Amino acid sequence: MSEPYFSSLKCRECGRLYPKKAVHVCEYDFGPLEADYNYDRIKAVLTRKVIESRPNSMWRYRELLPIDGDPTVGLQVGFTPLVKANRLAKALGVDELYIKNDTVNYPTLSFKDRVVSVALSRAVELGMKTVACASTGNLANSVAANAAAAGLDSYVLIPADLEQSKVLNSLVYGTKVIGIQGAYDQVNRLCSEIAGKYGWGFVNVNLRPYYAEGSKTMGFEIVEQLGWEVPAHTVVCMASGSLLTKIYKAYQEFMKIGIIPEGKFTIHGAQATGCNPISAARKSGTDLIRPISKPNTIAKSLAIGTPADGYYAVKTMEQTGGFADDATDQEIIEGIKLLAETEGIFAETAGGVTVACAKKLIDAGKIPRNERIVLCITGHGLKTVEAVAEHIGKPRVIKPSLREFDALVEAELCEAAC
Ligand SMILES: *Cc1c(COP(=O)(O)O)cnc(C)c1O
Ligand SMILES: [Zn+2]
Repeated sequence: MSEPYFSSLKCRECGRLYPKKAVHVCEYDFGPLEADYNYDRIKAVLTRKVIESRPNSMWRYRELLPIDGDPTVGLQVGFTPLVKANRLAKALGVDELYIKNDTVNYPTLSFKDRVVSVALSRAVELGMKTVACASTGNLANSVAANAAAAGLDSYVLIPADLEQSKVLNSLVYGTKVIGIQGAYDQVNRLCSEIAGKYGWGFVNVNLRPYYAEGSKTMGFEIVEQLGWEVPAHTVVCMASGSLLTKIYKAYQEFMKIGIIPEGKFTIHGAQATGCNPISAARKSGTDLIRPISKPNTIAKSLAIGTPADGYYAVKTMEQTGGFADDATDQEIIEGIKLLAETEGIFAETAGGVTVACAKKLIDAGKIPRNERIVLCITGHGLKTVEAVAEHIGKPRVIKPSLREFDALVEAELCEAAC
């Protein structure tokens, strides 16, 4: 048999190789394990033409994803629209802006469907019957839905105070939802203990090396949808920091296998002010991540106080010449409204974070106004309606009478004129 595309797991710190099992940390230095590939072999088969001939899903890049056989979970995930955002560009005062719109990802309306389809496809290959996760909401939704469709048993563990619609959006699939009285970090720690004891596949614990690679597909798609070009600037919101590092890896891999020429690009990070361990580190020029013990932000999907990939996210921004910023609750709401009113895209709070931080970085001159910019918008607004409900006005209610409608229009015209 010929050598596989996906060759092994490899420690990010010491480079030791590990078998492709449900393991995620190096025994020697506790470094995170990452998927490694036989790039020469991939280079020989994966061309633009081959990719373009495949169905519109994230699996069109499958040689660069960490599974052995054909994918079995989440076959429709990905290939979300890249929207040329002219009206938002004008509002932000930049020349060329795009939205990578994962609010319409399949099936659960966030970027997490990408990571889950890889993790669960691998879980099936490893013979697992029960899958689980520690989640700030979106991951729970995606594990619940994709496990249901794949006929896998699932448990999702979440902080008990999550948004109503995120909880509902997990329960409906018949998954076992466990609310933990504590912050995400405590949920995560408990999950590590459960994974050790029960042997289940926790997508972001013992399956994390597989899970994390799914994020690369957002970067692959951006490049392909820009006509095989890497954008000069990519702005990414950060929870654990994994997505940001994997978009970097995606751009690098496309260069490594010769799909695009070598070139410079910059990646910027965005967080909420109420939970900003990564952006705070980048802003103060250190790679030391100071944990946030009590996150306090409406961007609950990003509220990870001890971000697993925070260090690597800072390094990635540093290496590419990127910056970071953070956004207050008020700024997040304004970001959501600005995106909705200019582009007709309703993002969840994390999307508001990306828009608000992009605006700050542009205004500060850290993102030049005349270079191509892509904003990664990662989740749908219907998942976090509480955050905006009190800030977007109310419907004007009238009787079913033309006279009342006329009066309303007249009042509106007067209001606009006066
Ligand atoms: C999980 C998530 C992210 C990013 O997560 P990382 O842990 O940094 O990879 C971004 N946006 C949304 C909406 C998410 O749910
Ligand atoms: Zn190691």
